[in-house]
Amino acid sequence: MISNLSVEILSHTPEPEVTVASAAKLCYSPSKIKEIREKCSPQTAASFIRMLSSMGHQSPFEHASFTFGIEGVSRILLAQLTRHRMASYSVQSQRYVKETGFAFVIPPDIFQQEAALSEFNLALKTARESYEKIVSILKKVHTENSISKGIERSKAESVAEKRSIEDARYLLPGGIETKIICTFNARSLINFFSNRCCNRAQWEIRTLAEKMLECVIKISPNIFANAGPPCCSGKCPENKMTCGKMQETLEKFNKIKQA
Ligand SMILES: Cc1cc2nc3c(=O)[nH]c(=O)nc-3n(C[C@H](O)[C@H](O)[C@H](O)COP(=O)(O)OP(=O)(O)OC[C@H]3O[C@@H](n4cnc5c(N)ncnc54)[C@H](O)[C@@H]3O)c2cc1C
Repeated sequence: MISNLSVEILSHTPEPEVTVASAAKLCYSPSKIKEIREKCSPQTAASFIRMLSSMGHQSPFEHASFTFGIEGVSRILLAQLTRHRMASYSVQSQRYVKETGFAFVIPPDIFQQEAALSEFNLALKTARESYEKIVSILKKVHTENSISKGIERSKAESVAEKRSIEDARYLLPGGIETKIICTFNARSLINFFSNRCCNRAQWEIRTLAEKMLECVIKISPNIFANAGPPCCSGKCPENKMTCGKMQETLEKFNKIKQA
């Protein structure tokens, strides 16, 4: 298995499009909030949201949030994902959860080259064995130290295990799998899709971004109508670094949005 990547929406703002459109209408209306909300049907919201997008009035999009459950991604991806500061994250801890026989993501180019794959597997086998050995060495030392200070064995072992795994994790490979729950508002998600659906982003986070877009487009087709890499809604900003695959990319994202 190259990757066990899976994404699901755990929860989202109820009626995200009506919420966004009502917030934006409030800016231009003398009416009470209740009246604005009651008058804002899903159809009215749809056309209003498309107008907001074309005007670049982005702040109302912050009122719709989406929470994702993500599994089977690497710690490398985690480092890239959390660069997106306008989001909230909870991540499985390597301090508190022991990485017993850890699963990992294999980049496709390594997976397809027998010699590279064999080297990769060898390094992982060594990492797994060294991790277990270091945990065991440190756990024994810490347990004995605590017992010598009068701490009862079962308590000493439990504290020693935590102290051991939080240090042993320093040798863990970047490809190791992790689990993440993250919440983005729609404005931040549109920025995330613009950065990470682009062919210049690395394959793993690009795959994740595409799957996240597939999830939210079903819930809020108007909010995310123009979401995706910049070339899908205008010109490629990458200049000399362009992938040159604008038409192909446009067709791919049109398919995602029509699915
Ligand atoms: C192809 C690619 C290659 C990359 N390569 C590198 C690399 O080599 N090295 C590297 O370090 N990173 C790299 N990155 C990460 C990139 O620089 C951003 O950190 C990441 O994409 C998050 O984008 P963001 O800041 O727009 O998102 P967010 O942090 O979610 O911010 C959203 C928006 O809020 C505003 N904002 C947020 N914080 C501030 C602030 N402090 N001041 C002013 N405005 C703010 C900005 O308008 C920003 O666009 C790369 C990203 C991509 C897609």
